[in-house]
Amino acid sequence: MQHHFIGNAAQPASSRRTLPVIDPSDGQPFDEIQRGTADDIDQAVRAARQCQEAVWSKLSAPERGRLMMRLAEMIADHADELAAIEQRDCGKPTKQARADVAALVRYFEFYAGACDKLHGHTIPYLEGYSVLTWREPHGVTGHIIPWNYPMQIFGRSVGGALAAGNVCVVKPSEDACLSLLRVAQLAAECDFPAGAINIVTGYGHEVGDALARHPGIDHISFTGSPRVGTLIQQVAAERHCPVTLELGGKSPQIVFADADLDAALPTVINAIVQNAGQTCSAGSRLLVEQTIYEPLLERLGQAFENLRVGPAAMDLDVGPLIRASQQQRVWDFLSDAQHAGIPMVAQGEVVEDAPDTGFYQAPTLLRDVPAEHRLAQEEVFGPVLAAMSFRNEDHAVALANATQFGLVAGIWTRDGGRQLRMARRVRSGQVFINNYGAGGGVELPFGGVKSSGYGREKGFEALYGFTTLKTVAIRHG
Ligand code: NAD
Repeated sequence: MQHHFIGNAAQPASSRRTLPVIDPSDGQPFDEIQRGTADDIDQAVRAARQCQEAVWSKLSAPERGRLMMRLAEMIADHADELAAIEQRDCGKPTKQARADVAALVRYFEFYAGACDKLHGHTIPYLEGYSVLTWREPHGVTGHIIPWNYPMQIFGRSVGGALAAGNVCVVKPSEDACLSLLRVAQLAAECDFPAGAINIVTGYGHEVGDALARHPGIDHISFTGSPRVGTLIQQVAAERHCPVTLELGGKSPQIVFADADLDAALPTVINAIVQNAGQTCSAGSRLLVEQTIYEPLLERLGQAFENLRVGPAAMDLDVGPLIRASQQQRVWDFLSDAQHAGIPMVAQGEVVEDAPDTGFYQAPTLLRDVPAEHRLAQEEVFGPVLAAMSFRNEDHAVALANATQFGLVAGIWTRDGGRQLRMARRVRSGQVFINNYGAGGGVELPFGGVKSSGYGREKGFEALYGFTTLKTVAIRHG
């Protein structure tokens, strides 16, 4: 049985109710989490405020950095344990679960080193004045986290917030919170002060909503679906609380005829099957120059047929989806595709050993998907790649920009001029040229435009979002 983690102590929910934790690989419950309430959020915010005022704000930046570095080391020392927890809770193949722990370590290392490098400026002004700016923490930051990459998203948002001098109240997804509860315990074990990192579990419409509404939360970092992002923004607007929104995507992977296809193909496939396609930045639309459309689809189809899906512990190409409703969502998209006559090029294989009760979906390659069809417009959040062809650069740009989203774009071409032209014309927060994701580097600012959200997390840039700027103008006597 898991508990909230508030003020460095395990706490039951005031509701005395729990929720089951389901293993996506076999659909069976194996643990319980607390079903939190608004009272629990209130308790966490009080613990955080007390910590901020009495302890955290009194630490020097290097002291904060040392604590964060210690936590990075502690997480690295517990990498196997954390990866095993994440694997069972989220259905992640071993290599993905390990990669998530490694990223979490890197976030805390990076932000540990950033604590003492966040400077203000001096501004030339009228004779007789000195003007300077200070970067100050918001105070208590709220972090609402989805289930697809709990540790990575905790690392980038909580890591950045702590480094900037905030303390945190975290609401993980009801579908994936075990690893974060363990990380918060590890933080306490390496002397993080009580109240610096608080975790309250439960449903979004209960604890998530209570967190967004709480007047003691000074900034909200939300990562999740556009639908809930809108709700958070509305709630936060009522009390003018700043919000960072990291939402969904329908990201294009654009392949020109002059691309190095041997390099592109494995990356194109990984961009849609990684984490079973449950990735905000999944490359879910494949735009191919028409002169190479047929041969490229043939090669891709063969590769898709070789992809194997099975229980997370088997560490195959693809693990299960997170839950039954997510599996149903993907089935609904595929059934719509069938009704619309969208041809399926190829599908991977779910291995025989996979339990019938697990939430499996074979990677699926569809072709000639009309640009206006929901498969080309909406986030499936499963391993489904929608391919279409384009005639020239202008057509590629028009297709790439023809969705409500703007998170990531991948561009494959050897032509240097075209690389830069395309990078400028595609509307998205990130553009990857002849790669996709750049290895997920924690140093690289990340975020969206349009319905993919606003604000940036990751990298040094994130620290600006986790602070507020104070201008101090001094008139000399
Ligand atoms: P979700 O929006 O359903 O849930 C996200 C979080 O919000 C969860 O913790 C949930 O409990 C909480 N929540 C739900 N309803 C709430 C409410 N009314 N008030 C407050 N909180 C509430 O998203 P999900 O299904 O967990 O995650 C998948 C989505 O996340 C996808 O759209 C994906 O693209 C997006 N995502 C974006 C990024 C990014 O960096 N842009 C990264 C990962 C995931």
